[in-house]
Amino acid sequence: MLQENTARPAPLPLGPTRPLAILTYHSVGVGGSPIRLSLAQFRQQVRALQRAGIRGVSLGEALDQQGRAAGRLVALTFDDGFADFATAAWPVLREAGFGATVFLVTGRLGSDNAWPGQPRWAPRLPLLSRGEVRRLAREGVEFGSHTVSHLCLAEAPPDVAATELALSRQAIEAATGAPCRFFAYPYGLVTPTLRLQVAEYYSAAVTTELRLAGPADDRYLLPRIDAPYLAPAWLAGALYTPAVGAYLALRRLGRGLRRAVLRD
Ligand SMILES: [Zn+2]
Repeated sequence: MLQENTARPAPLPLGPTRPLAILTYHSVGVGGSPIRLSLAQFRQQVRALQRAGIRGVSLGEALDQQGRAAGRLVALTFDDGFADFATAAWPVLREAGFGATVFLVTGRLGSDNAWPGQPRWAPRLPLLSRGEVRRLAREGVEFGSHTVSHLCLAEAPPDVAATELALSRQAIEAATGAPCRFFAYPYGLVTPTLRLQVAEYYSAAVTTELRLAGPADDRYLLPRIDAPYLAPAWLAGALYTPAVGAYLALRRLGRGLRRAVLRD
């Protein structure tokens, strides 16, 4: 049976040393759909983080440095590898001195997001090319895997899942010349078997469960916060306050109810 983010096999590799917000972005630029945040909203969130003294970093830096970092960190992750990461999001992040992790669909580099399983409402958008990935890696962007083909690995036969996990990692390491340590589950779906497979190839993985990550979390089931939920943008600067924790719990409940009705 498929479960969303609820598989918790033991023993658990430890999560972040203290509560950590891992934000999820998709496309940044035009806005107007659940996977597109406008550039203005994005800038406002980055400013809100800066004003609150919170630094946006890659997932690797957040997990490696969190305990030693002088101030608070949030991990900034971008799913699917949209081309507008290079033209819209990254210039803003660089100016702010922030880092990021981009999860690539390696079989579609330089193409678009029209993979099977894409909901009908999703706009068709170009994805980063291999050359852009190489350049961004040189500039300090971290890349993780989001499979070769954006296949729902939780529903795929284990040998197919293993091939997607292995080949996407290989492709990213070949393009960037750096280790590819992280994985994002397509559609946020994971089974206990898949979680074990991912652990063979990666050092941590992220889901779409809406909350802060913490020390009790399994490193292969790290929850994330959809950035469009941080509207108004000042919420980004208040991520570590109890009020925003309560707000996210409410949004989580709303999303659960909507999913139960719409089965998206
Ligand atoms: Zn995706």
